[in-house]
Amino acid sequence: LTFLGLESSCDDTAAAVIRHTPGQTPQILANVVAGQTALHANFGGVVPEIAARAHAEKLDSCVQEALAEAGLALSALDGVAVTAGPGLIGGVMSGVMCAKGLAAGAGLPLIGVNHLAGHALTPRLTDQLEFPYLMLLVSGGHCQFLLVRGSDDFSRLGGTIDDAPGEAFDKTARLLGLAQPGGPSVEKEATAGEQNRFKFPRPLMNKPGCDMSFSGLKTAILRARDALVAEKGGITVQDRADICAGFQTAVRDVLVGKTERALTTYMAEDPSEPALAVAGGVAANMAIRGGLETLCKQRGVEFLAPPLRLCTDNAAMIAWAGIERYRDGQRDGMNLTARPRWPLDKAATPMLGSGK
Ligand code: ATP
Ligand code: FE
Repeated sequence: LTFLGLESSCDDTAAAVIRHTPGQTPQILANVVAGQTALHANFGGVVPEIAARAHAEKLDSCVQEALAEAGLALSALDGVAVTAGPGLIGGVMSGVMCAKGLAAGAGLPLIGVNHLAGHALTPRLTDQLEFPYLMLLVSGGHCQFLLVRGSDDFSRLGGTIDDAPGEAFDKTARLLGLAQPGGPSVEKEATAGEQNRFKFPRPLMNKPGCDMSFSGLKTAILRARDALVAEKGGITVQDRADICAGFQTAVRDVLVGKTERALTTYMAEDPSEPALAVAGGVAANMAIRGGLETLCKQRGVEFLAPPLRLCTDNAAMIAWAGIERYRDGQRDGMNLTARPRWPLDKAATPMLGSGK
């Protein structure tokens, strides 16, 4: 099966082509991502109107580029998969309309994919991971544990009730005058810092369940910064490094502590080859990754982190999820709609802890 995938739910316009022959490793024939960072740089965040317009403008050329890279004509494909939500509605609609046009024009099946399912199924593309596995999705907009039992069978074990960790990294960087995106800058500063000088809160850490909270951290950091400024008129490079180290350790402790609880729930399913996979930009953080790896080793669980370009937003994961869903008999018609909110877990309440 060869599928084209489209992604336009946030600030990346992406198109990819995946080929899968049963019994073989799936092949990524093309994976084109056009970011919009420069367009939103002056606004302190993604502007939905600008994003939607840019997606509408760029989708066509991304598709052409992906097909050219794969060396395939549209007619050589078996289907078109597109992110149908959750995300910024204007962007999602641009993608869905583009996919409908392509599918109708070439007479191909159309598959709508949940963006989070795309992230959650990525370890099956990269590592042929067997169900059921545990997924920790940690990015700028999401933070949740998913028990993945099938291409359309997810249980949300818990997640953030407020900010996502990536957002907390970005806000911390902003408070300390470090460059955006905050994750890499804070991680770099933290290497020279003393992690125990500042003791930042670890909310919900000792509460049962897998829910987390990260919004209190920015207040704690603001207080630490302002106390130093009041005391000696400013903060030194060392102070900044110490704050970064303390912050990163707090995030790591919460994520590792809650992963331990999520693993217990997951292990009760008695998986034959237990595995924890991570996805999202925050999974690039070596301290966090190291903490999770150590925990997995202790529990006899395999730890998997797909390469970063497949961990952050991309269309290869959408094309792959499309193939999985198609194989499981799912099809969407021309009545496929864009959904700004779309919880993966059918039992979940959409408003609780979606992190966005
Ligand atoms: P979505 O949540 O919709 O997938 P996103 O664009 O916010 O979208 P990603 O691209 O997966 O998410 O990740 C970006 C986030 O990851 C940013 O908040 C960034 O600060 C964070 N990040 C990137 N590298 C690191 C790192 N080394 N340590 C911590 N956080 C990081
Ligand atoms: Fe994403």
